[in-house]
Amino acid sequence: MLDILPVTGTTKIVGVFGHPVSHTLSPLMQNRAFAAMQLPYVYVPWHVLPEDLPAAVAAVRALHLAGVNVTLPHKAAVGAFLDEITPEARLFGSVNTIKNDDGRLIGYNTDAPGFLRSLQEQAAFVPAGRRLVFLGAGGSTKPLVMQMLLAGAREISVANRTYAKAAALCRELTALGLPAAIQPLPLDLDSAAFGSAVAKADALINTTSAGMYPQHREPPIVPAAFLHPSLLVCDIVYIPRRTSLLAAAEEAGCHTLAGYGMLAYQGALSIEIWTGQKPPLQLMLDTLEDAIAVV
Ligand code: NDP
Repeated sequence: MLDILPVTGTTKIVGVFGHPVSHTLSPLMQNRAFAAMQLPYVYVPWHVLPEDLPAAVAAVRALHLAGVNVTLPHKAAVGAFLDEITPEARLFGSVNTIKNDDGRLIGYNTDAPGFLRSLQEQAAFVPAGRRLVFLGAGGSTKPLVMQMLLAGAREISVANRTYAKAAALCRELTALGLPAAIQPLPLDLDSAAFGSAVAKADALINTTSAGMYPQHREPPIVPAAFLHPSLLVCDIVYIPRRTSLLAAAEEAGCHTLAGYGMLAYQGALSIEIWTGQKPPLQLMLDTLEDAIAVV
C-alpha cells in the first residue's frame, strides 16, 4: 500500500465539512486514492456547525483549499455561499462537492451521478423505461429520484413514513414536466397501493436511514415476503454493508446493490473534479468494504 506523498509547501488540501464528521470514511478512502495516484493532496475532516458554515466556506477561499466535500447537514444550505452551482446541483437542491477554481467556488453534486454509476456498473441496471420504488423522502432522496428521472425512468413511486413529505416531493418532481408517472405512497406494509407498486417494480431503492448501524438488528423495512426475484434491491445505507433489507432481498432471490458503491463513486467523481484525473475506483471500493467489515 502506497503512503500519501510527504506534506510540503505545495501540498493541496481538500476535505469534508460535516456535523457530525467523526464517523466519516472519506478521509481513509480519498487519501488511499491520492496515494495510489501519487498526487500531492491530503484529505482531512472538518467539524463544521451549521452556524459556522459561512465562515468555513470563506476559509476555503482564505486558505486556498483545492476543494471540499460537504455532507450532512450542509448540502442544501451551502449553495448560497458559492459563486456558481452546476445546473444539476441546482436542480437537485444539493451540493456535496466544491471546487476552488482560483478563488471562484463552484458547487457540484456527485451523489446522484455516483448512485447512477454504481447502479449501471455494479448492478448492470439501466433506469431508462423502468419502474422504481423509492423508500424515504429525506435529504438524500430528491437528488437520486431526479437523477433517475433524467436517466429516463418510466414510473417512480416515493413511499415515506411521513406521507406528506412524499406528496410534497412528488409535486416537485411532477413540476419538472418529464415524461414519467410519479406517485407518492404511504410507507405502510398494509397498504395495497404500496404492495402493488413493489410487485410491479424493477428496482426498490431504500433512501431511509432505517437499518443503519446501530439499528442494524431491527427487522427489514420491507420483509422478504414483499419482494420478488426480478426486483433489484438497493440500499444506500452503507453501515452495515449487508443491511437487514439486503439480507431479506437475498432471501427472496433478488439482485442487490449495497450503499458503499454510491459512496465510492461519488468520491471518485469528486477527485475527478478536483484533479482532472480518474482515481482508482476498485481500490476505493475495496478500502470502504474493508473499513465497513470491521464496524
Ligand atoms: P434524512 O434524515 O434526511 O431522511 C431520513 C429518511 O428516513 C426520512 O424519509 C425518514 O422518514 C426515514 N426514516 C428514518 N427512520 C425510519 C424508520 N425507522 N422507518 C421508516 N422510515 C424511516 O436522511 P438522509 O436522506 O440524509 O440519509 C438517509 C440514509 O442514507 C442515511 O443512512 C445515510 O447514511 C445514507 N446515505 C448514504 C449515502 C451513500 O453514499 N451511500 C449518501 C447519503 C446518505 P420520515 O420523513 O417519516 O421521518
